[in-house]
Amino acid sequence: MKIHNDTSALWRLVDMALSIVRPLGVVAIIFGLISIAGYFGSVETLYRPIENGSATNPLTAVTIIFLGTALYKNLKIKLDIIIQQIFAFAALTIASIRLVDSLFGLELSQFITPFYQQVMSEIELGKSNSMGLNTALMLFSIAGVIVFYSFKQYFVSQLIATVSVSMPLISFLGYAYGLENFYGQMSMLTAISGFALSVAALSLTADKAFLNALLSPYIGGRVARFQVVAGYLVPIFLGYLLVKTIVTPQGSLFGVFVIGICWFIMIMVCISAIVVERVDNQRRIKEQKLLLAAMTDHLTGLPNRRMFFNSAEQEMSRVRRSNASVWILMLDIDKFKKINDVAGHAIGDKVLIEVSNTLKSSLREVDIIGRLGGEEFAIILSDTPMEGAQRVAENIRLNIEKTEVEGWTNSHGPITISIGCAKADSGKTFDDALAKADEALYQAKESGRNQVCFYSS
Ligand code: GH3
Ligand code: MG
Ligand code: MG
Repeated sequence: MKIHNDTSALWRLVDMALSIVRPLGVVAIIFGLISIAGYFGSVETLYRPIENGSATNPLTAVTIIFLGTALYKNLKIKLDIIIQQIFAFAALTIASIRLVDSLFGLELSQFITPFYQQVMSEIELGKSNSMGLNTALMLFSIAGVIVFYSFKQYFVSQLIATVSVSMPLISFLGYAYGLENFYGQMSMLTAISGFALSVAALSLTADKAFLNALLSPYIGGRVARFQVVAGYLVPIFLGYLLVKTIVTPQGSLFGVFVIGICWFIMIMVCISAIVVERVDNQRRIKEQKLLLAAMTDHLTGLPNRRMFFNSAEQEMSRVRRSNASVWILMLDIDKFKKINDVAGHAIGDKVLIEVSNTLKSSLREVDIIGRLGGEEFAIILSDTPMEGAQRVAENIRLNIEKTEVEGWTNSHGPITISIGCAKADSGKTFDDALAKADEALYQAKESGRNQVCFYSS
């Protein structure tokens, strides 16, 4: 339960996006009502904020209110879904009629436009007041988003929502750049309401598809968010420069604009690559650490049984190819059980660690060693003649005898080890060689311990 809470807290951007749907719906409803109130009370500034500028058409205001209501009904109740569908379909129908009007030069929308007389008298006075094609398209797509959402077609819904959001943004850009053909006749009020509605419609599916990935608390989401913000701001700024320079007589800076965008895309791609590489590098380091942990013995730091056998197989295939002289040593600490029984397990562990250190320091870099288990070790001596193996084994035995372990050797005398040696046969397996070395070890134990024995058939 706690883990679940912790992870959902991480996804707070998704939660935030989901929670702004209803407030944004309310904002749109309020804007729509203000416009309607303007027509109702004949207060022109309420629906035409800029004098002689664009107005919010009463039909647009009604559609905005419908869409805001549909978004407000974002509940898990069946009746609410039906209400949501009714309002979304109503908005869809109004926007469709307006689109048909635009495409075929008809005037069907006059029959459903409230305050139509008022609108007509304004148009006769030369003022702009109609639902423009861009506004109709924007409202149509927002309605589409909600319809698809209510029928659980989340991916399509989200896809259309990204288009919806871009429409009021283009209008904002038009206002910012001073380019009227960018915003057409969309009034600022309509653009703001449309923006609130389309962001709300997009947020409906914040926990799904690519929006979920974009809002992810993990590295992918963070990079994507940075790139989306930068990917909007930089071209908008460059576009502003372009618009300003194109109308000046100094000539066009279009080339600089294109190069600027290309440079910017390259920087974005590089940022992704750097972040991905960093994350992947950390993963690789962790993987190596894990691999090492899986291959080494926790207590002594020596290669464990698995790693020893891996190395042994590689060495055996070399023996088969080159007929090299390779010796296998099996080692077992003498009377180790007694050490545990008399001095305790902790001292036993200490003895194991010290014996391992002595073994390591008695060998060459190329020799292979492993802790097979308990107080048993094995060693592979590569490219070594029999005399060499004898010398190394004897040297180990003597070094172990000299190994001092605080808490044991000072009161109970030296630690000793028995060693069995066998030559790896190029025609046989490693297990065969190990079994022979084990037999030799048994002989060493039988003959009184603390000695080296060689296998003889
Ligand atoms: P021998 O000379 O015949 O080899 O006698 P031994 O007592 O050494 O032989 P035995 O195999 O009977 O005892 C091995 C003991 O090693 C038993 C086991 O409890 C102990 N042992 C195995 N692994 C560990 C370990 O990691 N730490 C400690 N402290 N003891 C261990
Ligand atoms: Mg033993
Ligand atoms: Mg043993």
